[in-house]
Amino acid sequence: MPVIKDVVCSLCGCLCDDITVTVEDNKIMGVKNACILGHSKTVGVQTHDRIKTPMIRKDGELVEVTYEEAIDAAARILANSRRTLSYGWCSTSCEAISKAIQLAEETGSVIDSTANVCHGPSALATQEKGNPGATLGEIKNRSDLIIFWGCNPIHAHPRHMTRYSSFSRGFFTPNGRKDRKMVVIDVRKTDTAKRADKYIEIEQGSDLLLVTALRSAINGHEAAIPKNVAGVSKAEILGLAELMKNSRFVSILFGMGITQSRSKYKNGDAVSSLISDLTQHTKAIMMGMRGHYNVSGFGEVATWETGYPMAIDFSKGYPYYNPGETGANDVLVREEVDAAIVGAADPGAHFPQKAVRHLARIPLIQIDPYPNPTTELADVVIPAAVVGIEVEGTAYRMDAIPIRMKKLIATEFKTDEEILKDLIVKVRELKRGE
Ligand code: SF4
Repeated sequence: MPVIKDVVCSLCGCLCDDITVTVEDNKIMGVKNACILGHSKTVGVQTHDRIKTPMIRKDGELVEVTYEEAIDAAARILANSRRTLSYGWCSTSCEAISKAIQLAEETGSVIDSTANVCHGPSALATQEKGNPGATLGEIKNRSDLIIFWGCNPIHAHPRHMTRYSSFSRGFFTPNGRKDRKMVVIDVRKTDTAKRADKYIEIEQGSDLLLVTALRSAINGHEAAIPKNVAGVSKAEILGLAELMKNSRFVSILFGMGITQSRSKYKNGDAVSSLISDLTQHTKAIMMGMRGHYNVSGFGEVATWETGYPMAIDFSKGYPYYNPGETGANDVLVREEVDAAIVGAADPGAHFPQKAVRHLARIPLIQIDPYPNPTTELADVVIPAAVVGIEVEGTAYRMDAIPIRMKKLIATEFKTDEEILKDLIVKVRELKRGE
């Protein structure tokens, strides 16, 4: 049975590249090394419900059509739209993302990624203060203090702690967990927190207060810290500040507890300043625990092609960016778009009610391998191959390292990239009146 080694798991931002997959007669027979999520995704191409054929909604029902008919219908929606929203594109390849951006430019659309409702505020913080980051390899080899803040990797990134952080053995941390301290800061005692040396429970939405107090402690302004900040005692804050200062390499790894709680991007901005303060005493870095496997890739591709990482509006004929005004939810809630195209995402399940209501009212195109609540709202549904399993491509890991994903089995589904290329050609033809 052919065995494919060094396969990249295309599920979460860890992009684990040590997976072994056994294939026979174009079927995946076995998956080794992946966590339960990665295993389920890899074998899921055969066992999960797929969108089997392209479909167009007629008289309220989705009716099976050919790829050509679906692409023609989708192109007509885009060509006739005054202002389209293009959303998602974080669970696909950088090659497809590049085409989605090109299509958005051709059609004068607003294009946004799932980062906007996830780690988007980290991008704003990076623009304000920079990104004092590292690679996952550096964390594994050097970090003796790992702080997970507002994230729960045991469930969201199951191999992170064993491969890259708390439990992994590195060059300067040969004894793995014994060579590291692990601290978890969160609003509830998660399963990750249960494995920490120290768990600090904070009041919801008060992260900025705690970061500011830690900065005061690190900079020697203890007198400015009240007895209790964010539900944490002054003694505990001073203790954590000392632990940070006395560690060789501090890694603050944060999740949506930082990016989507009160103060949003100001939290990331403050953590960046905290890192800067810490580097007066030791080495320190911060990193967002990115969820979708190529959400980092969208930010990279969009930034090098347009100058902005998300929420890019092409309606003026050039890229314009103003999150809060040009984000997917912003333009949906204000009913500013009259059509939408969604790729590899499910706003139907995750967006606020008002945004979903508008999405249901306007012509909606979906490109995805799998049906989801957004399929129920879509007028044109185009099935796609699963990137990293049925088609190769490039993705960026959570530490912004590009990794090439392999093709494991053949498929008859078109790829996202092919579908988007076809749409660009068809939209151009329609605009020329052909
Ligand atoms: Fe896949 Fe993430 Fe699990 Fe690694 S940790 S195997 S990338 S789901």
